[in-house]
Amino acid sequence: MFSKPAHKKIQQTSCGYYSQFIRQGGIVLTIVAYISIFYFGAIFGSFFTVLGTRIPIKENFTTTRSHCVHCQHTLQTKDLFPIFSYVSHHGKCAYCAVKIDALYFASEIISGVVACLLYYFYETDLLQLVTLAFVFSLLLVIAIADYLYLLIPDRFQLLLLFGVVFRQTVLPVTDWPAAFISLFVIFSLLFFTSLALQDGIGGGDVKLLSILSLAFGLEPTLFIILLASFSAGSYFLHTHMAKGSPLQRRLPFGPFLAASAVVVHFAQLLLVR
Ligand SMILES: [Zn+2]
Repeated sequence: MFSKPAHKKIQQTSCGYYSQFIRQGGIVLTIVAYISIFYFGAIFGSFFTVLGTRIPIKENFTTTRSHCVHCQHTLQTKDLFPIFSYVSHHGKCAYCAVKIDALYFASEIISGVVACLLYYFYETDLLQLVTLAFVFSLLLVIAIADYLYLLIPDRFQLLLLFGVVFRQTVLPVTDWPAAFISLFVIFSLLFFTSLALQDGIGGGDVKLLSILSLAFGLEPTLFIILLASFSAGSYFLHTHMAKGSPLQRRLPFGPFLAASAVVVHFAQLLLVR
């Protein structure tokens, strides 16, 4: 179904020595290592949420301290522990008790899981691990921005494009003609679809999928579109039937595309093993 992805020749990097050390330590050390990697990923997930929520509305993310969006109370250090803070306060603000959007919790969990998967599949290839972590992190930021504001800022798309091109250049084998054919086919297909179907697919989604096609190739991108469309359609119907959400409404497609890209990539790795 999928072509085998180009893997860099296994190198004994510092990451490789780390994994060798873990293997020698047995099952206990392996579990401790994965819990550590998961929480490390969750900390980054918390930071990506800040980027995705603040940058689109031009809110400073370096000097403005984290605060509750309802009561504006500045969060203390004890409120900033990913996952634990959310769970210990039962998903509510510790100061005004208003329910916190599950987005914060979900992005921390997703980042933790993706960090573990990246380590599992790329433990011997630090460069691939870092470049893919950069690409997937940007996908998370894009998903959050689209979910909250129904827009994907161009600066996020440009950074993603930079990450994708950089990753392709460090891969041992990159089929550039195939990559550009994928880009051309996907972009043409979606561009003309967006022209034909007014209020169909948005311009940001066309750009995002074009970049993903450059990163993952034509066939996986078609699977990404299929999976994202199916999951978005299911979510749309579920919210309409369960919560009575109106049929005439805009649905952010970015989160479904980002999640599908991650799922298809790891499914591809599993299938070629
Ligand atoms: Zn509050």
